[in-house]
Amino acid sequence: MMVLLMAAQTIAQDYELKSTVDVFNDLNKLHRGLRVLYIAAHPDDENTRLIAWLENEKHIETAYLSLTRGQGGQNLIGDEKGDALGVIRTYELLEARKIDGGEQLFTRAVDFGYSKSAKESFEKWGKEEVLADVVYAIRKFRPHVIITRFPPDRNAGHGHHEASAILAAEAFDLAADPKAFVEQFDRVETWQANTLYFNTSSWWRKELEGKSDEELKAEQIHVVNIGVFDPLTGQAINEISSLARSKHRCQAFGTARDRGERKEFLQFVKGTHQEAWYDTMQGVWMRSPDHQKAILEVLNAFDFKNPKADIELINEGIMRKVGQRNMWADAKDIAWVNQMLDDIALNLNGVRVEAFAGQDPVVVGSDYLVTIEVYNGGASTIDIRFSHPNIDTSFSVEEGRQVSFTRLFRAPNEISTPYWLRNPHKDLYVLDKNEHLGLPFLEDERIKYVVKADRPISGSTVLHRKCTDRSLGEIVQPMRFVPLIRVTPSVKSMIVRSWQDIEYSTTAHAYEDCEMSWIPLDVNTSASIGFANLKLKKGQELMAYSSSTGYKGLAPKNIERAVKSGDVIYNQSIRLINYDHIPEIQIIEPALIEVTFVEMGKAKGKILYIEGSGDEVDESLELIGYEIDRTPLAQLGNKELDSYKAIIVGIRAYNTNDELPAYYDKLMRYLSNGGNLITQYNTSYSLKLEQIGPYPFKISRQRVTEEDATPDFLVADHAVFSKPNKISMNDFDGWVQERGLYFAEEWSDEFTPLIRWKDADETEFSDGALILAQYGKGSFFYTGISFFRELPAGVPGAYRLMVNMIEYKP
Ligand SMILES: [Zn+2]
Repeated sequence: MMVLLMAAQTIAQDYELKSTVDVFNDLNKLHRGLRVLYIAAHPDDENTRLIAWLENEKHIETAYLSLTRGQGGQNLIGDEKGDALGVIRTYELLEARKIDGGEQLFTRAVDFGYSKSAKESFEKWGKEEVLADVVYAIRKFRPHVIITRFPPDRNAGHGHHEASAILAAEAFDLAADPKAFVEQFDRVETWQANTLYFNTSSWWRKELEGKSDEELKAEQIHVVNIGVFDPLTGQAINEISSLARSKHRCQAFGTARDRGERKEFLQFVKGTHQEAWYDTMQGVWMRSPDHQKAILEVLNAFDFKNPKADIELINEGIMRKVGQRNMWADAKDIAWVNQMLDDIALNLNGVRVEAFAGQDPVVVGSDYLVTIEVYNGGASTIDIRFSHPNIDTSFSVEEGRQVSFTRLFRAPNEISTPYWLRNPHKDLYVLDKNEHLGLPFLEDERIKYVVKADRPISGSTVLHRKCTDRSLGEIVQPMRFVPLIRVTPSVKSMIVRSWQDIEYSTTAHAYEDCEMSWIPLDVNTSASIGFANLKLKKGQELMAYSSSTGYKGLAPKNIERAVKSGDVIYNQSIRLINYDHIPEIQIIEPALIEVTFVEMGKAKGKILYIEGSGDEVDESLELIGYEIDRTPLAQLGNKELDSYKAIIVGIRAYNTNDELPAYYDKLMRYLSNGGNLITQYNTSYSLKLEQIGPYPFKISRQRVTEEDATPDFLVADHAVFSKPNKISMNDFDGWVQERGLYFAEEWSDEFTPLIRWKDADETEFSDGALILAQYGKGSFFYTGISFFRELPAGVPGAYRLMVNMIEYKP
């Protein structure tokens, strides 16, 4: 793939014509005929410096296998968590690969959150399952060299990291074993990679940077300077790497462009250790060095201003050789070489084929219009033939001309959603089809064609949506297939106290003109709606309000919402992930409200919520009856501030909110006047304010990742555990993912720690998850407890504890 030199807004597309510089780089890649698989655990673990160097300096095809899609991590750009976050991180990886040139692969492993050991990770995923997926990735991608980011021991840190190195080492051998994972052999064959390296660094071994070349050699460690300048693109390799790394926006990995010498270390683990393998290993051309020599000759004579001459060079030098009897390489490598040569030929001939629908999403099963454009930027007329059920046509295009035409396409019957989310999952994604395993995403329909230039050349183009915006220009997005009607309840979950009145609304959105009826709610609620035969125009929405007094359920009960049109029931909502650095992706969600009952006193009063990096704690508190105000501190006078029952600071607010430090004094005045200030977790790295509480304390990296870790109340009779809700061990049942993270440490004497707990394999307790100090007449809480996960997940105990903190009076 090509290196991006464009503004961030534009997302490069495969069907765009490549410059001769990019074609030259592709030829270089063909000449090297070498593949490297880089293995780690999460989106953002990958070393973009090494990948950028392998791809752009050494012209080695490099893929990054991330065990997970990172759905258990944090999100610093929005409030997506879990599956939706995994979608963002998947596409951020793909955008990073577009810049550094690599490919992207995954396993079925779900990022279930922080894990303290590989052992724990394997227990959740099932070791054999993920091992099978890594073996499959190796058998499919067929790397000559495998590189791990982490060591296979506890030095790796995160348990997923350690697991990735252990799996890589085992899979290195098993991929070649004809008795291992035999069920894969209908799709892939055995594969033996030459060498396994560990991409070690001074992070683990401080002394590495100072070692001489001889010392490193004695330890079988390659040291390479990846900080080299590429005159063809005008960028240093580490500069390309910085641009790729900065795509991990939801992880706040934006970084300045790096230039100058930068060492990378590759430590031999197993296989065959070969000096400077990145220059000398023959890969695809092992059995036919004369083919490789022929490509080198083309490279040496390559003319950047005369593609026609380059085509002739290739035809005479390479095509004749590869056209000989197919004995010069493995069949799969021959297919790869032919595809590379076709792609190079199409680009040198200036053939650009694009197929696009309009801006609007398309209703499943309906007919829609697709425009096909064929542009001939080459020096002579071409003939093109499409072989597609809807485009069975052939014609000529003169040089310098573009031909476009439209055809009707029939939309598939499946609503678009990321393929790995089609089935419910716990710690391992469940796929519909084995052949989807490892794919970063399922691409939209690919339209094939053959161009007759000096020889028949096969090409294909992926269907997409396209529109033109007056300020941004062309906007290209993946296809979106939608249901006729989208049904969206106003809330996803609801915490309901016994005999509470509940209210919510439901929106029905029509993607095409239609007639619909609301399906009545179940007997437990008295709906204020009952309309039938409502006519909706395309794009129109109808809202229905539902309310119920004295809801008296005792067990959790979901409210399902649906409409009917014709004989079809529509009960699905569409969640749109929309950021300008990744494509627009939709996720199907069921149109239901998860209802959880909780025994709790009535929550009443006004809370000021100061947003941090994004969480749904404020919305959750609204659900149980609090009035939430989100007015910026700047607009509130001291008197108004004093009227709030509590001020709650959202997660990472002191990491992300630039205005907040300026209002420290204002918040302290509120505190001393008798206010109640609750600050949720921040990270110590990049705190915008040194002291965020009334007295000093530090923020650690301590976390308790086992969601069922036993809590110990450090002050058992404290009001936080008794008023208005009597907190017991039952309140710590049913938590999700973890107890908390970024706990306080080294607090001053004014603070009282209230709770302590630890993960099973830890010896030391963490007691900084909830600390409290009095300041003047008020109370200050710092808490690393994961309320941002537990409240939206409807965990009753977390609500009861949070209410006690809000209602706390010293
Ligand atoms: Zn990681």
